[in-house]
Amino acid sequence: MAVSRVLILYTGGTIGMVPVDPDDPDGTRRPGSKDDVLRYVPGIGLRDGIEWELLSDASLPPIDSSGITPVEWLKIAGIIRREYQAWDGFVILHGTDTMAYTASALSFLFENLGKPVVLTGSQTPLFHERTDGRLNLIHSLRIAGHRATGLPPLPEVVICFGKRVVRGNRARKMSATDSDAFDSPNLRPLGAIETDVFLDRSLLLPVPAASFHTHSAMSNGVVDITIVPGLPPSTLEILLAGPAIQGAILRTFGQGNFPPNPELLAVISRAADRGTILLNVTQCPRGAVNMNQYEAGRILADRGVVSAGDMTPEAAYTKLSWLLATFPSTARNLVSRNLRGELSPP
Ligand code: ASP
Repeated sequence: MAVSRVLILYTGGTIGMVPVDPDDPDGTRRPGSKDDVLRYVPGIGLRDGIEWELLSDASLPPIDSSGITPVEWLKIAGIIRREYQAWDGFVILHGTDTMAYTASALSFLFENLGKPVVLTGSQTPLFHERTDGRLNLIHSLRIAGHRATGLPPLPEVVICFGKRVVRGNRARKMSATDSDAFDSPNLRPLGAIETDVFLDRSLLLPVPAASFHTHSAMSNGVVDITIVPGLPPSTLEILLAGPAIQGAILRTFGQGNFPPNPELLAVISRAADRGTILLNVTQCPRGAVNMNQYEAGRILADRGVVSAGDMTPEAAYTKLSWLLATFPSTARNLVSRNLRGELSPP
């Protein structure tokens, strides 16, 4: 039987959480330790030929993922780079709240990724008898341990959760409680979990020929702004005029439409003149920005706002943060190019 070696990196999240009051399993939870995870998963995957190790890195103590920042993304990327040659694939245990951000950020920080990096977690912790974490971990291990399971060697960052496997930089958390918490509204799922894990080879990214490396910087000068009816120009000005602001996500209406208020538009023009990269992302969960469809979109294009196409807000935010720190002089052009399967052709 073929054997596959998988590294599981534990970063926190519900999957490894324990109750603050041990007598109240449904009460408030806090991140547990590596041992709290290990206690509930002895021997999983071994019958499939998957040899795994669970790593909780000292530089990355388990957290509720609502506390994640670009600093942790860079640390995770650094650990995968350090361990890359030794394993066939990687599973990252992560909280669901910001999993789509982390999956997107990692997809950009990894250059020429040739092995599976599978993020998973759960809505109910491993210690709980109704946990969804055990199956999510087993299915993720099957993907990462492709050498043993015969699944395609998926060379990308994915989220495996509930009934779906979705591209990481296309993923969105769709439900705060449902065990099928993730979907990729603008791209068919890469795979389905039924009696086993099925992956659609026709959707997977090609295995890169060049060697793997990671990028090591992300800007925290990107602001994410939801446009609402009646947004005061002074509020938009405050959000865009901060000295550290290099880029902004504008979450606009429909196909990328913006209120035709001259004062709001003057704020946009001033930001563009300062060199801020303004990225137009639709508020709709499905569909893409097309600033040529309506005058209400054209007014942004005319002021130098760039279309995010059908990128998710999570992909747009992490991509712009990565580009501004890594390729500052070409970030404006690169942000609207498909770099990691995050964007469909117009
Ligand atoms: N608050 C938790 C977290 O993101 C939620 C979860 O993991 O489902 O860490």
